[in-house]
Order: sequence, then C-alpha cells, then structure tokens
Amino acid sequence: MNQAQFTYVAMPARVVFGVGAAQKLAAEVAALGVKRALVISTPGRAQMMREVAKGLDIAGVFDQAVMHTPVARVEAARKQAADVKADCCVVVGGGSTIGFGKAIALTSGLPIIAVPTTYSGSEMTTIWGVSEGGAKKTGRDPKVLPRVVIYDPQLTLELPPAISAASGVNAMAHCAEALYAHDGNPIVSIMAEEGIRALALSLPTVVRHPKDLEARTSALYGAWLAGSTIATTSVALHHKLCHVLGGLGLPHAETHAIVLPHALRYNAAAASAAMQRIQKVMGADDAPTAIWELEQRLGLPMRLADVGMQAADVEKAARIAVQAPYPNPRKVEYEPVKELLQNAFEGRRP
Ligand code: NAD
Repeated sequence: MNQAQFTYVAMPARVVFGVGAAQKLAAEVAALGVKRALVISTPGRAQMMREVAKGLDIAGVFDQAVMHTPVARVEAARKQAADVKADCCVVVGGGSTIGFGKAIALTSGLPIIAVPTTYSGSEMTTIWGVSEGGAKKTGRDPKVLPRVVIYDPQLTLELPPAISAASGVNAMAHCAEALYAHDGNPIVSIMAEEGIRALALSLPTVVRHPKDLEARTSALYGAWLAGSTIATTSVALHHKLCHVLGGLGLPHAETHAIVLPHALRYNAAAASAAMQRIQKVMGADDAPTAIWELEQRLGLPMRLADVGMQAADVEKAARIAVQAPYPNPRKVEYEPVKELLQNAFEGRRP
C-alpha cells in the first residue's frame, strides 16, 4: 500500500454496537421510515430471530436461508417479499443469511437492516453472490449494502467454538489482505491492524470460554473492522485461491483459515510493511508463523486434506488460480502457487 498516493472510498454505514444493541432494532427500523419488515434467518437461527424481532412490525418471516444462496431458494424469498409487500428486510444471522437479504435487495432495492451473528463481515460490503448448478455468480452493488448494522455480542454467545474460530480467522484474513491490497489506503490499514489485534487477542478466550462476553465483544468488534476493510479494497491471492477451492466444494471459513498462513508466506517478502504491521499487533516476529500457531491454539483444522480436498485437486486448483491475472504483491505463478497449495494440503508449518 502506497501512503504517498491513494484513493479513499468510504461506504455509508450506520453501525449500532454493544451488549443489548439488538433491543434497538425496532427504533432503528422506525428511523428508516419503513414499516413492513420481511425477517430472514436460517432454520437454526429462527428462534433467535423471532426474539430479536419482538416489537417490530413484521410483514413476513422467511426462516429458510441456507448456505451459498442457491437461486431457487432466493427466488422463493424474493417472491415472499413481494407477496407480503415488504418495505425492508431484517436479516438475523451469519453470512449465509445476510446473502439472502442482499439477493432480495439486488432485484427489489429494499433496504436491509442487518443483525450479524458471526464474524463473516458480509454486512459491511456491497458484495452479493448467488449460486446455480454449482457455479457462484458474484458482484458488487451499492443497493445491497445494509442501511443499518446492529452488532450485539450477546447474540454470538451460542456460536459454537469451532465456527467462531474459523469465522474469526476468516475475518483476520480480510484484514491481512487489506494491508497489502493494491488499492489500500492509510485509513483501511488502521482498521485492518486494529481488526487483527482485536481478533487475535479475543479468539483464544472465545474458544475456551464461548460465553465470555468481553471476549465476544472484542471478536465482534474485530469482525466489524474486518468487514469494513474488504468493503472498499480488492482481495488478492488468498481470497482468490479460496474462491477456487470453494468451487471444489470446500467449506468457506475453514478453507480461508487454512490457506491464510501459506498465502502470507507466499507474499511475505513482497509485502514486508504489511507483515510488520501484523507482527506488531500480534507481538510476534513472523506473521505467517504467528497466524499458523494461533490457528493451532484455536483447534482449527490445519490441512486442506482435513476439509475434503483431494490430492489431485492441488494441481487443478493451482491451474485455475493462475488463469486470470489479478493484482497481488508477488507475481501469481503456477509452480509457487502449487507449492503453496501442497503445503496447505499437508498442513505444513509455513
Ligand atoms: P453461515 O452464515 O453459514 O453460518 C455458519 C453456521 O453458524 C450456520 O449453521 C448458522 O446457522 C450458525 N450460526 C450463525 N450464527 C449463530 C449463532 N449466533 N449461534 C449459533 N449458531 C449460529 O456462515 P458465515 O461464515 O457467517 O458466512 C459464510 C457465507 O458468507 C459464505 O457463503 C460466504 O460466501 C459469505 N460471505 C459473504 C461476504 C460478502 O461480502 N458478500 C463476506 C463474507 C462471507
């Protein structure tokens, strides 16, 4: 990131943060001047969603959100929004649920009020995605950016330790790539550094003591910052590789976590200023190793082989990953990318 020359873009955002913040939902919705909410969750979060939505004027409930925003399910949600004449979408859940709100907003322009319950960061971005027949279509559109985001750490207390760890390190990955993004800037770097600090400090406690409200608050704060960093900067090798691996059917957050230390090693020499910032906030002398050791402490799967990757996929993924060029601190080339993936496949120390 060049501090002498940069372009800074700020996304409009109203963020309401803190323990008990979910109680402000009805007031926040009223302040937007809307009255007929379609409230959205996954089946698993349906009860939490109903509690959070108490006191709200509800036009309809869609509690059938699922991973990967499959287009058929999205169409059902869009139809329901139209049938009940919803004038806004209230989403309560992780990245998958927020994805449904975004898909509705994309075609209807309905405003979204997001109440995130994981560390995905999707609520801060204009990025949408829908999948059909195994292929994922994504894009950026300001229409899908939530108008209000309410972060209540209390809603994250039940998030299982394994999901918290993977989702949290995924958020750290957003921050790490923002630090060396070709279109980064000093403000985003400050947020990225602070996001890594908050997450690295809190995740070990979150995993050991999932109900520790202070650690949960710090992790959610870090996740907000992480989401803000990817909102305006381009992702590089790490996220591009994970996108390819996602296409092979590997799980989102775990894959991002496993690949992160190896992608950082790949870029370390070409992005030394970013590495120094990560090292500074983690109190370490080598960023890729520090992240790898943190992941071990969190009990995360360390090998792509552990999350469903086949040995033959290493070459296949490396080939796909180098097909379309994109900015990255170090040139993206087949042999070293294959080596990176092989190391991640085997879970080697980076
Ligand atoms: P997720 O939304 O699929 O949630 C993971 C699991 O946790 C689910 O089973 C869910 O029911 C459960 N869960 C969620 N909150 C909980 C809580 N508080 N307590 C207990 N269980 C809870 O996973 P995710 O990691 O949040 O999101 C991943 C998805 O988000 C991916 O599809 C990814 O592509 C997308 N994403 C999009 C963006 C973007 O900017 N568009 C950014 C990041 C991620």
